[in-house]
Amino acid sequence: MKIAIEHPMPTVATIKRLYAHAFSCGYDGCKRPLYRIDEQSSERTLASRICHIHARCEGGPRWDPQQTPEQNRSDSNLILMCIEHADVIDVAATVSNYSAQILRDWKTKQIETFDKIRQGWMLNEAMAQEAIDSSAQSSTLNLQNSNLNLGGKGGAGWGAGGGGGGAIGPNSIGGRGGDGGDYRVVTGPHTLPIEKFSENRRISLPIQNSDGSLFFPGAGGDGQGAQGDNLRGGDGGHGGETVEVMLDCKSLRESGTSNFEIIVGKGGEFGAPGESTIFRAYRENGDVIKEIEARGGDGKKMPESTSEITPNEASKIFRITTLMPVNSCEIQNGCLFILGGGWRTFYAPETPISGAWKIVVAMEWTSIEDHKPRGFFVSIFDSNRQEKSRKIVEIHPDFFPLENSMWIIDMIVSPTMSGRWSIIAHASGEILSSYYINIVK
Ligand SMILES: [Zn+2]
Repeated sequence: MKIAIEHPMPTVATIKRLYAHAFSCGYDGCKRPLYRIDEQSSERTLASRICHIHARCEGGPRWDPQQTPEQNRSDSNLILMCIEHADVIDVAATVSNYSAQILRDWKTKQIETFDKIRQGWMLNEAMAQEAIDSSAQSSTLNLQNSNLNLGGKGGAGWGAGGGGGGAIGPNSIGGRGGDGGDYRVVTGPHTLPIEKFSENRRISLPIQNSDGSLFFPGAGGDGQGAQGDNLRGGDGGHGGETVEVMLDCKSLRESGTSNFEIIVGKGGEFGAPGESTIFRAYRENGDVIKEIEARGGDGKKMPESTSEITPNEASKIFRITTLMPVNSCEIQNGCLFILGGGWRTFYAPETPISGAWKIVVAMEWTSIEDHKPRGFFVSIFDSNRQEKSRKIVEIHPDFFPLENSMWIIDMIVSPTMSGRWSIIAHASGEILSSYYINIVK
């Protein structure tokens, strides 16, 4: 990930000088003063922003890669405007109307006006700092050649909960991290009291894969990110169980145990639940004498504010009409344009690699009466029916009157195993729709 260049904000001295030489908004024709004065108390309230002619952050409006940090934060690159116009010159929809030359011309006019009226604003230290802070907040997030992963990470550690999702946008909040997993001591046939051997319990984590990567057994899945107004990132999944047991080898041997098997479950990836870790003791003929399972953590959870489609809704008012992988597609005027899709065979690359599958989900419904967002999951399962990736699809109440909606979602998957994989839309433990794909290696 490449971090975008971000020049420092202007100094307090520069800001004091700027305000001392301007009275009103620099936008051509705008007369709004830079501070509002309450008529009764004569108290001043900041009503302006410090605008950059060439953006402070790489990739921002009128960005000039040749500028040094000092040039970027100097008087000549700054113009004061009312809050509304500070926004207008920078937002994506209108920025192309405001070239650096236009802004420089307006700045010249602002200074000429000052020369005539000789009226500006005397700022103390705190006022200048307030102007700097308010303007810094309005800078937009610029990312170049980089992915912004808003989702939380699966828990790192035995029984750790998954991280909550992040959120960007006004009034948005990140999701909650998952709870840690439960702790359980197994007792019963062929076990001994753990307390007697407590100093011997040592497990080293994480476990290393054959390719050198690390994984954490049974940790919870990650939360989902959210970008937009009033959204909430997804909550992280719960952690997996931690199970402790002290096996009585003498009694196991006496009952005919010849082999042990331990399958260590991996932590959830891409929002999928963690796998269970299973211990089995076998007789020579293959019979299982004892089995102990530590359940893996939950995957990505539905945010609390959203109600998961119920089986009753699925049978009466809600239906998935399309669920399939596509090569390329877009939605225009409510129509879906697909270039290649519906394939049933996927030739997996030789080396294990994670890639994104574009999946189209179309759905329809009738008469949803309340105003609670509805949601369901789309998951990818491998040929062992193990969930490998999970995403949440949410329908906002604003869409309810339309009675249908289409989504294109990217699902990250590493097709490590050949065989029949499936894409499954599900909610409240019931399958809403499914689609199979044969993975060929
Ligand atoms: Zn203005």
